[in-house]
Amino acid sequence: MEKRDIIHDGVSIKIFGTDEPDKVLVHFTDDITAYYKIKKAVIKDKGLYCNNISCMIFRHLIRGGVPVHFIQQVSETEQLCRKVDVIPMEVIVRNVIAGSMAQRLGLQEGLVPKATIFDLCYKSEELGDPIINDYHAIALGLASREELDEIYAVTKKVNDILVPVFKSAGITLVDFKIEFGRLPDGSLVVADDITPDSARFWDTETGTRLDKDRFRHDNGKVGLAYKTVYERLKQVTDL
Ligand code: 5GP
Repeated sequence: MEKRDIIHDGVSIKIFGTDEPDKVLVHFTDDITAYYKIKKAVIKDKGLYCNNISCMIFRHLIRGGVPVHFIQQVSETEQLCRKVDVIPMEVIVRNVIAGSMAQRLGLQEGLVPKATIFDLCYKSEELGDPIINDYHAIALGLASREELDEIYAVTKKVNDILVPVFKSAGITLVDFKIEFGRLPDGSLVVADDITPDSARFWDTETGTRLDKDRFRHDNGKVGLAYKTVYERLKQVTDL
């Protein structure tokens, strides 16, 4: 496999074409931003931790029968994936109330809701990724009713697989964001990484935040938090 031109120049990931037109190389960087790029920093080895965490999670999902874009890990900071058409919609799962949901509804962070919450957001940086509902998603042509049903079912499965994996690592999977993409035949796959950049991981015993909130809130020790997630997951996973 040969690395070709860059096709997506993101902050925390850069995507390169390869000599195989249906495959891309995803490279994880050490860069981190928050608040729509107002806050920026470089965290040593963040790319290595995020790539390894993402790869372990994808292997768990594949074993659980979840369709994903991930093919294989290529290096400490790179993974080979299937090229997809990404749907500009974020799917957020909340097992514990935190972040924007706590703010929006005036709820205490840490509250466990009576049922798992699924949010949809329209992916648009200019608009601040506004929250939408199924009617918006269908009306905007983001996904059909049938596709949304599949997206919710697959997202629930992702959560059902990952909650116990993180639990065994002493980590509460508070919330996470994923995105879906379409393969050339139209089938849907999870086309986004779950890492401390895109999820909230709390140490189950102490409540210590092991994710990007440390950077958002200037708590320090961001790299150490990412490293902790990586090492704990590695300890409990055979994948
Ligand atoms: P919140 O709605 O509280 O801001 O985010 C809920 C969860 O989704 C958090 O784990 C957060 O990191 C993730 N998330 C929400 N929007 C984005 C986004 O635009 N990019 C990334 N990487 N994660 C997001």
